[in-house]
Amino acid sequence: MQVVLTRETDWEGWRRATRALVLTGVAPEKITWRIGRVPAPLPEAQGTFNVPRNLVEIAALAFQAHARDRFDRLYRLVWRAHHGALPAAPQDDPALAEAQALAFAVRAEAHRMRTHMRFMPVEDADGPRFLGWYAPQHHVLEANAQLLARRFPDKRWSILTPEGSAHWDGGGHAALRFGPGARGIVDDATLATWWDAHHAALLQEAVPGSSVPEAEALDEAPRPPDLPPLGPVVLDLAPDPAVHRAAVEAGQCRRCDLWQPASQTVFGEGPAGAQVVFIGEQPGDQEDVIGRPFVGPAGQLLDRAMEEAGIDRRTIYITNAVKHFKFTPRGKRRIHQSPDATEIQVCRFWLDVERVQLAPRLLVLMGASGARAVLGRPVTVTRERGRPFALEDGQTAFITVHPSYLLRIPDPAGKAREYRAFVEDLRRVRALMEPA
Ligand code: SF4
Repeated sequence: MQVVLTRETDWEGWRRATRALVLTGVAPEKITWRIGRVPAPLPEAQGTFNVPRNLVEIAALAFQAHARDRFDRLYRLVWRAHHGALPAAPQDDPALAEAQALAFAVRAEAHRMRTHMRFMPVEDADGPRFLGWYAPQHHVLEANAQLLARRFPDKRWSILTPEGSAHWDGGGHAALRFGPGARGIVDDATLATWWDAHHAALLQEAVPGSSVPEAEALDEAPRPPDLPPLGPVVLDLAPDPAVHRAAVEAGQCRRCDLWQPASQTVFGEGPAGAQVVFIGEQPGDQEDVIGRPFVGPAGQLLDRAMEEAGIDRRTIYITNAVKHFKFTPRGKRRIHQSPDATEIQVCRFWLDVERVQLAPRLLVLMGASGARAVLGRPVTVTRERGRPFALEDGQTAFITVHPSYLLRIPDPAGKAREYRAFVEDLRRVRALMEPA
């Protein structure tokens, strides 16, 4: 029995075939699964069968894995569930545990794509469009595109991957369209050139539709135990192109040893033209995993304090003195270690790039490391915080505490007092942000 799915992510086709074949008693070893243009006829099936919810959730994700035999493996699990021969818990069954591992890998990759992909603004015949490029390890383009369309219904954007592309034209009548992929793109310059040469044909070829499970369903599915919650997509933070190029280059930085144990470079982020740059110390544990600055507990506290002070985070650029997470492993935990003066000095190369490219009016230096990186000397934050002062290059600097300092204060009254002082500092920053 040969089953033809129309593409790698033909989830509806697989479900239809699986239902028909299980109900007509076609054993897994009698089936060959392949991808083709024309679906083969399926046997007429009568009746219904139930599959445990956790198996559906695992299958919906594992189906998007880059594993050749996944159609067969998932069919075997459904077949066994239908015949009452599948334990409920993955740890009790190696095949189910393997499928769950695939599901976790897909979910992690979908998350990685959403948090790593940056969008560059381009123009096409109908106006501005945001262009993203990513080479996913699994078939996660379609599910992520659905999520993005819901989060940013009014923007026009395209995502290119080597295997396919997704396009959204914004506005009330937009439909998600999918088209051919784009191979050989390695950086922004190649992406821009490729887009210029191919976008008209690509957009013409793209057709509406997707059959992969809805992105919300993906998010409900089991998560790897240590995966942090989803980070926001950064579409509305269209970066300065030169800063974006620097971020890509910094991804390969080996100027000091901090890159080795860390997961990735965490560069600054914020919109082109940001007039204010917030500078912290270094990425933390969650930032290291997600790849974006200030998304962990200290970042959430900073978001709250900014909101109270009337600062819209989407309008500022936020970065760190050092772009890799420095830590000491302790069991399963990674304990933060402050960077030393040499590491701050070496990584200042990237901070200078950010400062030169953005040319902001105001630098907000959070904590001793952020202040040292800019001023080039040790700083006692408590003595120098809370007032603006001019730098040699004409920029204004303002020192305050690092939000992680507030998290470490054990006494609740002291913590509340310090938090209020921090918000007061940010209100002063807010006043300095007003045009003169
Ligand atoms: S910490 Fe900075 S200088 Fe060191 S490897 Fe990372 S990016 Fe490069």
